[in-house]
Amino acid sequence: MADLILALDLEGVLITNAVSQFPRPGLMRFIEECEALFGRENICIFTTVDETRFREVATRLVQDNFAPQWFSSIRYIEWVGEHKDLRFVDDDISKVIIVDDYPPYIKSSQKHRLIKINQYLDPYTHEAPDLSDTEFERVLELLKQKIMS
Ligand SMILES: [Mg+2]
Repeated sequence: MADLILALDLEGVLITNAVSQFPRPGLMRFIEECEALFGRENICIFTTVDETRFREVATRLVQDNFAPQWFSSIRYIEWVGEHKDLRFVDDDISKVIIVDDYPPYIKSSQKHRLIKINQYLDPYTHEAPDLSDTEFERVLELLKQKIMS
């Protein structure tokens, strides 16, 4: 297993958003594959959603069988500032990979640690959700490459 920490954004990545909470297709498998690659203790959530709300969302995802049991107690990153500074995850940012749909949140000096994923959209907006979305598969391949390199 890699000596890397995987930081996952929540909204637009794992689910649509914390209100509608639609899981991205393949969420359970994605989380399980990430666990196999990184170990569950090396996976964390880095989101603008506050922790109380995140735990509610996570608990519901577990109850609805969209996420494994341990996901509801996953490490949650407390942070402040305008950017998601990866030093909140680990002092050594070269150990951190973040998967996020919104690059402006990531400090420009840390963009090389970002794997950008396309935003997963809410079906109640004017744009229909992409039910053929295969972003998790693409991102998993990139994560495997990061681990190999
Ligand atoms: Mg997001």
